[in-house]
Amino acid sequence: MQCLEEIKMDEIKKPIIMDQTLREGEQAPNVAFSIEEKKAILTKLDEAAVPLVEIGLVARNSPFLEEIEQLLTIPLKNAKLVVCCLAKEEDFATAVELGCEHILIICPTSSVLLEKKLAITKEELIQRVKKIIAGYEKNQTFGLIFEDTARTKNADIENWIDLAVELGASEVYLADSIGILSPERVSETCALAEKKAAGRLQIGCHFHNDLGLALANTLSAFQHGASILTSSINGLGERAGTVCIIQLLTALNIHHHVKSDIDTIALAKLSKFVESVTGLIIGPNTPLIGYNAFRHSAGVHADALLKDVDTYQGIAPSLLGTNHSFIPGKLSGSVLLQYFAKQAKFDDKLWLNDTLRIREQLANIGNSNLRSALTGYYQCLEEQSLEAESCLRRYLCKKKDHEE
Ligand SMILES: [Zn+2]
Repeated sequence: MQCLEEIKMDEIKKPIIMDQTLREGEQAPNVAFSIEEKKAILTKLDEAAVPLVEIGLVARNSPFLEEIEQLLTIPLKNAKLVVCCLAKEEDFATAVELGCEHILIICPTSSVLLEKKLAITKEELIQRVKKIIAGYEKNQTFGLIFEDTARTKNADIENWIDLAVELGASEVYLADSIGILSPERVSETCALAEKKAAGRLQIGCHFHNDLGLALANTLSAFQHGASILTSSINGLGERAGTVCIIQLLTALNIHHHVKSDIDTIALAKLSKFVESVTGLIIGPNTPLIGYNAFRHSAGVHADALLKDVDTYQGIAPSLLGTNHSFIPGKLSGSVLLQYFAKQAKFDDKLWLNDTLRIREQLANIGNSNLRSALTGYYQCLEEQSLEAESCLRRYLCKKKDHEE
């Protein structure tokens, strides 16, 4: 890997990041933001300097148009707002009337969606899109989303790019709506699209995480010419979601040396806010944003980290406004236990001897009981509570009574 110093900063192209929490995110099962929550999310995204924010799907008869209208009135410092709509004249006209700066038109480009969802031919959809744009005064910019790019023939992708250029679109999106692409396929498709676009419009990407590859696919797209990358807070989206914005920014920084102006610490706070209002709990081992992302328990790692963080630190937690933390656990060694004793200002030797003895006792109880015994005991340790030992003794007595 090239050292950062060897790279001329002006050679590093910066992608444009679009957040889709308010549109794609709300498509996740059991997510329904109130208008107040939407306003708070939009304001926080703007404060974090996210440059593009998609705020909703516009449809002529949608009961949620007023929400979009309200969001459009919020004064913003950084974010340019985007709405999307289906390839329908009345929906596009409604989006234009709303006055949003940028409109995305969803164009299903795979034969399976054309035949089975829309029951029209590619030519018919092309004529429809042409008609939509023909009657439009172009006071706003627009882009086309190639829905289900993964199952779209290369020749069709090229035709659609020519059409987008002809119509005056500013960008097109390669959208893996069903989440089946791999980084290799993305590199081929993106290179093909970039070559065809030949600088006439920008290439964007929108990838779903069904195979856990959305982030890798987005990085691959960026490497092969995509300049607008979509994501959402906590990766919220349909099914397994999309790309987590914090993971995307951090990976771009580490692997592509992209120094973004977006405030990841503000996004980390927003991540918690979105978690609380949606009730969709972030998995503890979710990279960067999960509860365990910077917590250490195993003796070998904790011992080394306490000596020097460089030993096991790949990503500085300070990027997200947090620190490494240590958690006593089954495999914590004497160094970490001593660390806790010191933190709690306990009598080192006495505490350590007691703790090591209890640890041995724990090793002797059956595996099925180990977890519950550890929970109470280690929680007390973590909280530096003198109750730790009595907590364990109470558990062991109960267990003994139960066995007798
Ligand atoms: Zn999507």
